[in-house]
Amino acid sequence: MGIQDDDIASVRAATDIVAVISEHVALKRVGRRWTGLCPFHSEKSGSFSVNAEEKLYYCFGCGAKGDVITFVREIEHLDFVGAVEKLAATAGITLRYDDENQNEGRKKRAKLLDAVGKAVEWYHERLLSAKDAAPARGYLRSRGLTGDDVRAYKVGWAPEGWDELARALKVPNDVFVEAGLGFMNSRGRPTDAFRGRVLFPIFDVSGDPVGFGGRIMPGNDGAKYKNSVDSAIYNKSRLLYGLNWSKADIVRADEAIVCEGYTDVIGFAKAGVPRAVATCGTALTEEHVKVLRSFARRVVLAFDADAAGQNAAERVYAWERQYDLDVAVAAFPGGVDPAELAQTDPGALATAVAEAKPFLKFRLDRVLAAAPLDTPEQRVRAAESAMAVVQEHPSDLVQDQYLLEVAAHCRIDPDQLRGRRFTAPVVPGAKGGKAKLAARRNGPTNDEPPPSDEWYDDDQPPPRGTLVRPDRPRSRRPARDTAETEALRLYVWRRDEIDPWLDEALFRDPASLAAYRALVATSSVADAVAMAGADDPEAADLLQRLAVEETEADAHDVLTRLVDEAATSAMAGLKAEARVADDPFAVGEAIAWLNLRIMELREPDTNEESLGQLLGWLTGRPEEEA
Ligand code: ZN
Repeated sequence: MGIQDDDIASVRAATDIVAVISEHVALKRVGRRWTGLCPFHSEKSGSFSVNAEEKLYYCFGCGAKGDVITFVREIEHLDFVGAVEKLAATAGITLRYDDENQNEGRKKRAKLLDAVGKAVEWYHERLLSAKDAAPARGYLRSRGLTGDDVRAYKVGWAPEGWDELARALKVPNDVFVEAGLGFMNSRGRPTDAFRGRVLFPIFDVSGDPVGFGGRIMPGNDGAKYKNSVDSAIYNKSRLLYGLNWSKADIVRADEAIVCEGYTDVIGFAKAGVPRAVATCGTALTEEHVKVLRSFARRVVLAFDADAAGQNAAERVYAWERQYDLDVAVAAFPGGVDPAELAQTDPGALATAVAEAKPFLKFRLDRVLAAAPLDTPEQRVRAAESAMAVVQEHPSDLVQDQYLLEVAAHCRIDPDQLRGRRFTAPVVPGAKGGKAKLAARRNGPTNDEPPPSDEWYDDDQPPPRGTLVRPDRPRSRRPARDTAETEALRLYVWRRDEIDPWLDEALFRDPASLAAYRALVATSSVADAVAMAGADDPEAADLLQRLAVEETEADAHDVLTRLVDEAATSAMAGLKAEARVADDPFAVGEAIAWLNLRIMELREPDTNEESLGQLLGWLTGRPEEEA
C-alpha cells in the first residue's frame, strides 16, 4: 500500500531504534538490550525493553510492541505511511510510491486542510471583533468561556449572510465544496454551509483542522447543532472533538472521558481534567471506541448511558470484550452537564469521574433506585427488572456477583433468582421497555442512536453518568515461564547453544510451536515476528517479548526441563492410551521405560544419558503423537 516495500525496508534498516525511542524515553543499557519507562502507559519501574539489533521493542506492563515504524505510529499518532515518511525524512531516504494517485491524494488533502484552516481563522477573527458577533460572545460568556478559552479553542462565528465566507476565502469552488465549507446553490454560486452559528473547529488527532460543529444561537430556529458533512478529511464516525488536545493526558491517565458537547470538553479541561473528548454529532461508534482504545484502556461516559438505548448495553459489553476495555459511567449531581459544573463546582467534575461506576452497576443502580419496595409484589417486580439488566452481561460470574446485590436489595433469596431468565416488563407507552424502565426516574430517553445534528441539548441536559475500571492492567510477564518459553528465549539470544537439540516434537503449546517454526524458517527475530504474526498473533507477541528478554539460563538446564515436561506429557498420553489399548502390555512396557528415564533425568549422575535417550525417543515419534 503506498510506499514501495524496498524503501520501507531501507528506512527500517537505516533507522536506529534506540535513538528514535530515546527522543521520548530515557533508555539505559542492560546487557544486550535497553530498558526504560514505558511511554505508552504510566509506570514507576521500567517494563519497557528495546532490542537494538532486532530493532524491536516490547512492554511487559501494557503489551505495547513492534518495530521502529510501529513506535513512531503509536507515539506520534500517525498512520503507517506518515510514520515511514517521517523516518525517511530523518534518514535522508527518498521514498517511491506504488501508486501515482497516492501523491495526488496527499496534495488534495493538503489543499482541503488549508482551506478549512483559513476558514477557522476567518470565523475566529469574526467572533473576536465583528459587531454582529456580540450576541455570540455573550452566549459563550454565559457558558463560562473566557476570551482566553475562545482563543485557545479557536471558537468562531459564522455570520448570517449566505456567502460571506465564500467571498472572503476565495478558494476554488471545488475545494470550497469538498472541504465541507459550503455548496453550490441552484444558480451555481458558492454558498456557506454555516450561517448564524457559533462554530467549534474540529481538529483531527494530529491537530489538523478538518471541520466544524456549529451551534445555533439560543432562541433561533433550526437544528441546534449542525456539523460538517463527511469528506475526504472529515469522518464523523471516527472523529472525536478534543482528542488532539486531550491525547497526552488520556495516555497518562489510561482513561478517556467521552462527553456530549464541545463546551463539556472545554469545561473538563478548565476543571483540571484535560482528557475529555466528544463525538461530533453522532452516537459513540465502534470506530470511536477503537480510536480511544489505542490511547487508553478505560472509557468513562460522561453522559446518559441509557440515552443511546437498549442496544447500547449490548454494544458496550461487546466492546469491552472485544477490545479489552472497561466502560464506566459518571453520574453528575442533579443532571447538570459538565460545562455547567465546570463553572459552578469544578471539583465535582473530577469527583464524578473518580467515582464512575462500571456500566452494569450504573444501569442496575438506576433501575433499583426507581423501583418502590414497599410490598412483596413491588420487591419481586424490582428484582425482575434488575435481573433483566444484570442478565444482559455476557459473563455469568459477573452476573452472579450482581445477583447477590439484587437479592439483598429486594430481600429475596438469591437461589430463587439463580437459573431463571428475566425479561424486563414493558412500560406502557414505551418503545423499548428495558431502557425506559431504567430511565423512568430521569425522564424520557431515546431508544435509537441519536440522529446526527440534534441529539443533544445543552440547555436541557439529560442525566449524566461515568465509568471507572476497578483494577490496573495486569502485567504481561507470567509468574514463571514454561520450559518451552525458556528454550525459545535461549534460541533467540544464544541460538548455537540449543539449536542442535531442539525439535518441533518438544513444543506442545501451539503458540510456542508456531514461534519455533518461524524462528527456524527465518534468520532474524524481526522476520520471525512478521512470519508468525500473519496467522498467529500470540506467537508473534511471544517472539517480540523474547526479543527483549536476555537470558542467563544454562542451555543444559533448559533442555533438561524441556525434555522433562515433554516426557511427562507423553507419559500422560501413554496412560490414556493404555486404558483403551488392545494390547495394554505393550503400552505398559513403554510406560515403564519412560518412567525410569524421567527418574534418571532428574538425577545428576544419570541425567546426561537419559537426556540423550529421551530426546531420541521424543523426537523420533511422529509429530502428531507428540
Ligand atoms: Zn507499557
